[in-house]
Amino acid sequence: MFGKYKPLWGKPSKLDSAYDAVIIGGGLHGLATAYFLARDHGLTNVAVIEKRFIGFGGSGRNTAIVRANQRTQENLPLYQEALALWPILTKELDYNLMFFNCGNLNLCHSEAAMSAARLQIASAQFNGIESHLLDSKQCKEMVPALNISEDITYPIFGAMYHPPGGIVRHDAVVWGLAKGAAKHGVHIHQQTAVTGINVENGKVVSVETDRGRINTPRVLNAAGGYSAAISYEMLGIKLPISVLNIQAMVTQPLKPILNHVVSSGAYHAYANQTLKGEIATGAHMDPWPNYTTLSTAHYIKHQAQALSEMLPCLRGVRFMRHWSGLADMTPDMAPIMDGNDHIDGYYMDCGWGYFGFKSSAAAGKYMAQFMASGNCPPLLKPFSLRRYEQHRLMGEIATPVSYGPWN
Ligand SMILES: Cc1cc2nc3c(=O)[nH]c(=O)nc-3n(C[C@H](O)[C@H](O)[C@H](O)COP(=O)(O)OP(=O)(O)OC[C@H]3O[C@@H](n4cnc5c(N)ncnc54)[C@H](O)[C@@H]3O)c2cc1C
Repeated sequence: MFGKYKPLWGKPSKLDSAYDAVIIGGGLHGLATAYFLARDHGLTNVAVIEKRFIGFGGSGRNTAIVRANQRTQENLPLYQEALALWPILTKELDYNLMFFNCGNLNLCHSEAAMSAARLQIASAQFNGIESHLLDSKQCKEMVPALNISEDITYPIFGAMYHPPGGIVRHDAVVWGLAKGAAKHGVHIHQQTAVTGINVENGKVVSVETDRGRINTPRVLNAAGGYSAAISYEMLGIKLPISVLNIQAMVTQPLKPILNHVVSSGAYHAYANQTLKGEIATGAHMDPWPNYTTLSTAHYIKHQAQALSEMLPCLRGVRFMRHWSGLADMTPDMAPIMDGNDHIDGYYMDCGWGYFGFKSSAAAGKYMAQFMASGNCPPLLKPFSLRRYEQHRLMGEIATPVSYGPWN
């Protein structure tokens, strides 16, 4: 019976001694890049190397929120394309990704936050992305469970409403992309760690793994929370990435009460109701760097307090599970998608912080184009590593601090 077991992503294959491309990390970014390399560029001799199991990192731990109303002109088109890809990929991969287009409400708790939201809405609308400003009464009409009284820590002034956003089942995206990549010939090697990258005469020539050497002219660092350590320890390239923990939890399943994603920068809390009925809720990142994936009582209490104020009908509801995951955070809250001027064949797709789920499909599509052609697609150019030394940081950083939308 066990001999017939065949995972969705094909039979575990033997590790070949050479591949046209090696991808470090079986998260969404690694899998999406592998899928598009094979599907669009005929590069089918590709290995995804994952040290644990696919979806072990942030890809299997996030709160599944997707939206396209980012803040800056550089980010908006990427997230817009990523959002449009969910229904397309569902069909193409022949796998139900459970995209629930319920819309997102990013709450504003001051006049300053309303002004910031107006600017962000204008940027989104300029790019053809639907986004509107609501006052508190309109918020209450949309989410009757919301507490719009003035007698709470951060009274709600209004919200930025983004109808095309929503939630997608994160595990399904991991499994669907793995299925799609394997169908096009990609080898997915789980329980295999990359331990070194070998460079000769300024070119990537091979990677070392704990199962042997693989010759390859291209390697993608898509290792999420481990990407900075890999880059520095294996190639001596420092990345401006802090590794921070994000904690999340779900309540017991409830009847439908929350029909939109609701997030609040002031309360440092966001919540959505899964298709199973649980309220999935997440918190701000832990403020100190660490590589553990522990949950702490502090955050559980914080979430309970924030939700009880914002959505008082949740008082007394029980948390059933909590977990956390590593986030690779850059100083400007925007990713690094780049090659390297000194090492031909070394590519990076990392530094995604809070935004690596919602962006994954489009990022994979363009990173595949980059790796196959060696030319950086125009859409990715603003995300170069160089921007940090050239003082061209992006303005996404303003979003999480106090103004509202940060997941
Ligand atoms: C609690 C939480 C909530 C979040 N909520 C959201 C959200 O609602 N929306 C959103 O857009 N984003 C969210 N995020 C962020 C998002 O999950 C991440 O940005 C995204 O998953 C990053 O994907 P990735 O493929 O780059 O990395 P990962 O998914 O972390 O994958 C990297 C993989 O690399 C592997 N690896 C590491 N080192 C090696 C090695 N040496 N050899 C081989 N493999 C290696 C790891 O095992 C891991 O599986 C959240 C994150 C967390 C933790």
